Amino acid sequence: MQAPRLVHLNTQLADELCLDAEALASPSGIAVLAGNEIPGAADPLAMVYAGHQFGNWVSRLGDGRAILLGELIDRNGIRRDIQLKGAGRTPFSRMGDGRAALGPVLREYIVSEAMAALGIPSSRALAAITTGEPVVRETVLPGAILTRVAKGHVRVGTFQYFASRNDTEAVRILADYVIARHYPEAAHTEVPYIALLEAVIAAQAELVARWMQVGFIHGVMNTDNTSIAGETIDYGPCAFLDSYHPTTVFSSIDRAGRYAYGNQPRIAHWNLIRFAQCLLPLLGEEDAAVALAQEAVDRFPQQYQSAWLSGMRRKLGLHGDQDGDLELAESLLELMAANGCDFTLTFRHLCEAAEPGHGEAVFRDQFADNTASSEWLARWRQRLTAEARGEQDRKATMRRANPAFIPRNHRVEEVIAAALLDDFEPFEKLSRVLTRPFEDQPDFAHFSDPPQPDQVVHATFCGT
Ligand code: AMP
Ligand code: MG
Repeated sequence: MQAPRLVHLNTQLADELCLDAEALASPSGIAVLAGNEIPGAADPLAMVYAGHQFGNWVSRLGDGRAILLGELIDRNGIRRDIQLKGAGRTPFSRMGDGRAALGPVLREYIVSEAMAALGIPSSRALAAITTGEPVVRETVLPGAILTRVAKGHVRVGTFQYFASRNDTEAVRILADYVIARHYPEAAHTEVPYIALLEAVIAAQAELVARWMQVGFIHGVMNTDNTSIAGETIDYGPCAFLDSYHPTTVFSSIDRAGRYAYGNQPRIAHWNLIRFAQCLLPLLGEEDAAVALAQEAVDRFPQQYQSAWLSGMRRKLGLHGDQDGDLELAESLLELMAANGCDFTLTFRHLCEAAEPGHGEAVFRDQFADNTASSEWLARWRQRLTAEARGEQDRKATMRRANPAFIPRNHRVEEVIAAALLDDFEPFEKLSRVLTRPFEDQPDFAHFSDPPQPDQVVHATFCGT
């Protein structure tokens, strides 16, 4: 890259990775982040994979605009991949240029870091640089590179690549690698490959439930974007709900709404079936293998539902389990959909209503239909009488489950628009606010506001 310039370095993450932030921000560090220099011990590679894109089989994809610099062990003893996204062509670039534009790089930076701050498993952003070179999309844009960090980059599509070629030995090597790296407990079970399947299913059920609870829409839940390690990866035209409706879609390429907000659990299930199919040759005789895999995959809806319900109980401030809890949560969502309520603020305001007499009005004001919301509040209060916890305690716990700050689409767009004019101040500010999503930040309260009608973002683009 001709003239790499550091936009932002995540010093806290650098520290977690035992990297020297000062060295990374120096010219030789920036040369590494730009892909101009390879650190001493590194042996970079691009990974092959296949995948179903919007349900259509593609037999060969691969890291077309990402290069894996290498791995390191972080402060917690966890092995992490360090990847440069946008550093140029690889053997898998196909017709693409292997580059990334500044907008998508900043979007991924902000959203992946926001997800991590929300406590949701995610790839991380270590640095963003501009390359000093243009990339040609619909218009000419500044080129950029994101240094992303993940527990691993093996995808469902990685398994599909080898399985579709009937290369059972390669599938076995890959499965053993994944077990050793991510699910070591599976090695000590009777059928380790079934334990692997179950672990991946459990991780995805948990992950997608977490997405749903913050109103996150991934946008491109292709099998090649489904991480075996259970992290959110490959941020493209992702977005957060403003007003709640399960059919919401932002991605401009998702015309049929396959990856709409409310479809995400079903799609995760579909992707996991693809994963299970890859493992069949490792699971014994054909009929027995199918039965084993089917049983594991069939448990997904229940696992997802249970993960989702526990999360909803946290959001509603419910400690114990009662039969009517699912219906209570679902009826709130139905009301929110009918009234076009802001997803994030409705739950945040509910925290205030945890103390009777306080904050009920702000919660109710989210709804056009005040009677229905009052009725729901009364049912919720009734349910709370079965809880032993004090109000203050409940409110505090609810505030840790219901963020005030999410990366609102209009704020992300604002940041990108300013950055294209070489003003990175809005990026810095928004990133900072989003590191503490559960705290009130009075000076930045406006960052929690939904968009004004003229600020609403209707479509997001992957911009590749
Ligand atoms: P995505 O759905 O964004 O994860 O990308 C799908 C596939 O397209 C991946 O294999 C990417 O590596 C590849 N790809 C996307 N953009 C580019 C690009 N600019 N150059 C080369 N390959 C790309
Ligand atoms: Mg991808």
